[in-house]
Amino acid sequence: MRRLLTAALTTALVLAGTPASAAPAPGGPGVGDDYYPDYGNSGYDVSHYDIRLRYTPATDRLTGTTTILATATQDLSRLNLDFLLDVSSVRVNNRPAAFTRQGEHELVVTPARPVAHGAAMTIVVQYAGTPSTEVGAGYTAWIKTPDGALAIGEPEIAWWWYPSNDHPSDKATFDVSVAVPDGVEAISNGFQPRPPVRETLGYTRWSWRSLKPQATYLTSLVIGQYDVTTDTTENGQTVYNAYSQLLEPDFRDAAQASVERTAEITEWKSELFGPYPFEAQGGVVTPPGTLGFALENQTRPNYSSAFFRRGSNTSVVVHENAHQWFGDSVSVDEWKHIWLNEGFASYAEWLWSEKNEEGTAQEIFDYLYATYPDDADIWTTAPADPGTAQLFGDAVYDRGAMTLHQLRVAVGDDDFFEILRTWAASQKYGNATTAEFTALAEKISGQDLDALFEAWLFTPSKPAVAQAFAARGVPVAPKSWATISATHELLHRH
Ligand SMILES: [Zn+2]
Repeated sequence: MRRLLTAALTTALVLAGTPASAAPAPGGPGVGDDYYPDYGNSGYDVSHYDIRLRYTPATDRLTGTTTILATATQDLSRLNLDFLLDVSSVRVNNRPAAFTRQGEHELVVTPARPVAHGAAMTIVVQYAGTPSTEVGAGYTAWIKTPDGALAIGEPEIAWWWYPSNDHPSDKATFDVSVAVPDGVEAISNGFQPRPPVRETLGYTRWSWRSLKPQATYLTSLVIGQYDVTTDTTENGQTVYNAYSQLLEPDFRDAAQASVERTAEITEWKSELFGPYPFEAQGGVVTPPGTLGFALENQTRPNYSSAFFRRGSNTSVVVHENAHQWFGDSVSVDEWKHIWLNEGFASYAEWLWSEKNEEGTAQEIFDYLYATYPDDADIWTTAPADPGTAQLFGDAVYDRGAMTLHQLRVAVGDDDFFEILRTWAASQKYGNATTAEFTALAEKISGQDLDALFEAWLFTPSKPAVAQAFAARGVPVAPKSWATISATHELLHRH
């Protein structure tokens, strides 16, 4: 009876000329990223992840339930999630859903009933696995450490520990809770809504919340034996720092002397870039010989201990925390825009050097311009379209920063910092493109900057500058350069 009535109503509506909705169709296996066509998925938009895990370091056994709140962006008969571990059940809107595997990391879910365009979806995925044995994109991003594990990576990492729409263009809020053996730390992003609680015999559950939009790759999980420092800043922000107990004492001191300055560094940046965009801050220094780089995980960057092998290194703390504005709050719309993250974070290091009188941004620019050989990747790669092979290359970091410096020289300090602040404010928690940035720079400065951006961002050759260095010889390396270049050497090892 009910079905007949619905059919009759549908017919009446169609006859009356109301546009009939399209027949439900499968969502796509990618969001349409030029560089990574099968990353993320189309057909829905996630608003929240609730990731509830249990992890045993001795066996690298991870079991979990992730609940995803999403909205269908089309009439959806089927949808994909990105994930590698073994799935035991999927439910969509209170009913068991069929699921299968496709390709390397696609989990294809067919809900019992199609989901209408605009309708809310609750997707519950139960799973288990040994993440360190899973390979995706040709490698294993999950790092098993002597005392736990690290889920830290870019662009790939979520596949190893929670199912997601894995692309920065679909940001969401997160609750991450992990039960680990008593005495082990489990650290994620944001703040702790409650202290760790004893759960079942021998296990303690740690809970973390991120209430601002967060990209999937910026969500991290660190498990192991850590010494923790906590504090509250003058403006009420929680600071949570953690240092692996496996660090040698000299590394440990240098790491602490750097990461404990996080709040000071974010205060300084707030003056340059506008208010710090998130609800917590901090940093984690991982066990030696595990993580090979640092990553700007939201509210709590993770650092390789190698950054501190020559003593304290505030440059890397400046870099990763500059990403809280540029990369984490203002995220790339597609991966090819990565210079909007790395060029800006690298330029923040130059500004820090300038503030500390260890070399001005101009001196660093001059030194790089003069010393990079003419055939180096930095000149043969266009920062605004570096390709996947140079996604974390010199052009994206150093030439990206040089581009910003050329912009600053062209428009002057007042307009330059106005551009950065307006960029951070107008794109806050969103996704942005290079074209939007260049348009904003022209709008605020009132200048036609096409030639500057064309030469510095889009042309795979060495741009000319007004003053040639040949006349005055190769500049001396600014004092800060040894630290900045050593930092970048590690950062490029993504
Ligand atoms: Zn970076």
